[in-house]
Amino acid sequence: MVTIQPVTAAATSHPTPPAGFLLDVIEQVGRAPRHALVAVPLPPGHGHDVEPAVETLRRWCERTGNELVSSSGNVAQVRCGRRRDPLADLAPDLVPGTRLWMYTNFDCNLACDYCCVRSSPQTARAALGADRVRQLANEAVRAGVSELILTGGEPFLLHDIADLVGSCTDALPTTLLTNGMLFKGRRLEALRQMDRARLTLQISLDSPTAETHDAHRGQGSWDRAVAGIATAKAEGFRVKVAATLPYELTHVVGPFHAFLETLGIPLGDRVIRALAHRGVAEQGVELTVETLIPEVTVTSTGVYWHPVGAEHADQLVTRDIFPLQDAISQVRTQFSAYRADADAAAQWFPCA
Ligand code: SF4
Repeated sequence: MVTIQPVTAAATSHPTPPAGFLLDVIEQVGRAPRHALVAVPLPPGHGHDVEPAVETLRRWCERTGNELVSSSGNVAQVRCGRRRDPLADLAPDLVPGTRLWMYTNFDCNLACDYCCVRSSPQTARAALGADRVRQLANEAVRAGVSELILTGGEPFLLHDIADLVGSCTDALPTTLLTNGMLFKGRRLEALRQMDRARLTLQISLDSPTAETHDAHRGQGSWDRAVAGIATAKAEGFRVKVAATLPYELTHVVGPFHAFLETLGIPLGDRVIRALAHRGVAEQGVELTVETLIPEVTVTSTGVYWHPVGAEHADQLVTRDIFPLQDAISQVRTQFSAYRADADAAAQWFPCA
């Protein structure tokens, strides 16, 4: 039950609207479902004639938990009940800034035909660099980030990958995405320097047999990825496996799960996602800033909305990587604004 505090010229310096105006508002808004937009007629007249009514309406909304969305001409829009903060509706681990993604580099030993960031051996390295990774890891702790995720390109191409990973695991639990094909020689030595207690390796593998995986990633890549999973596990690391599948096949994954079982990958460490229409992919799910829940992603060129769009201008949030807290705030603010726009569009576009 809402208690209305009458606003009178005697009690305040605000002029009053015509008698009955507020009673009509209460009746209209009181009938509307929660979160609906209600068009409230304002008294006849122009400019200063309607100002007292708008001011009364604003004050009434403030006191009663409703929202004055706009007023124009002789109509005001009132939302019945204040809109919830979209961030409050997200599961805690989905709140932007809970995880921080860093693109260590963009070059790769593979050239997969659906790579969302167009990586290949010819792609420019565009390395984030040890200094920026260290600073980001340290600022992430202060910004309340709970997990760091390193990705590329192929991070094991970097000669200083062990140092980069060390900066991250010193700060927070870290996941390193890799195609798992380079665990030999000095790169295997680099792997052995990493903190097994704080680092998870996420290795890409698309199918239970070589055919599908190799068709997109190159001949022999499946064998080497499977060998990489075995090596990483033998070295004592937690290994997650991530598969990219065409959307129509994401439900046909039974044999794949059975195969991952034989590799000793627990159910919770299997990531199966649909192909995104990004980068060099010719088909896949269309992902936009309006539809994606953001994952704050830093590259050498700026902060992006999501790792899947980390070299696409439409997903650039800011060129300023530091301070990280500001970039995270910007992503959160923008997310709330997109959700508000979507709500408003839904309210404003009845077709019948
Ligand atoms: S999908 Fe991964 S492994 Fe393939 S080219 Fe892109 S970064 Fe490299």
